[in-house]
Amino acid sequence: MNECIFCKIINKEIKSEIVYEDEKFVVFKDINPKAPIHLLLVPKQHISSINDIDEKNENFLEGVFNVIKNVAKRLDFFETGYRIVLNTGKDSGQEVLHIHFHILAKRKFSWPPG
Ligand code: AMP
Ligand code: ZN
Repeated sequence: MNECIFCKIINKEIKSEIVYEDEKFVVFKDINPKAPIHLLLVPKQHISSINDIDEKNENFLEGVFNVIKNVAKRLDFFETGYRIVLNTGKDSGQEVLHIHFHILAKRKFSWPPG
């Protein structure tokens, strides 16, 4: 049985606020937002992290930047800008082992990140 929380969101076994969905991706609101807009984009196919991408599954992520652009236009942060974060592994703070792009917008972000 798949215990992955993001697979459960994708399969609608757990409620979430989905803002975009197509045959490959789901974008939903982060439950603990760190910015006025904080979304998570996940491939519907389970990949734990970048470290598990190989030639067999790299196509799961094909088209991801077009999805981000479309969501940015629809939710009105295409022009003002946004930050994409993709945590990988222990030192990054990755907690959920299903690859996810954080999409953060509608405030200024500092650099370097904490
Ligand atoms: P990371 O630390 O990169 O693995 O990020 C995991 C993110 O998932 C965090 O920002 C959490 O707030 C978010 N999260 C965990 N559970 C849920 C959930 N059920 N619905 C929406 N976001 C969630
Ligand atoms: Zn998963």
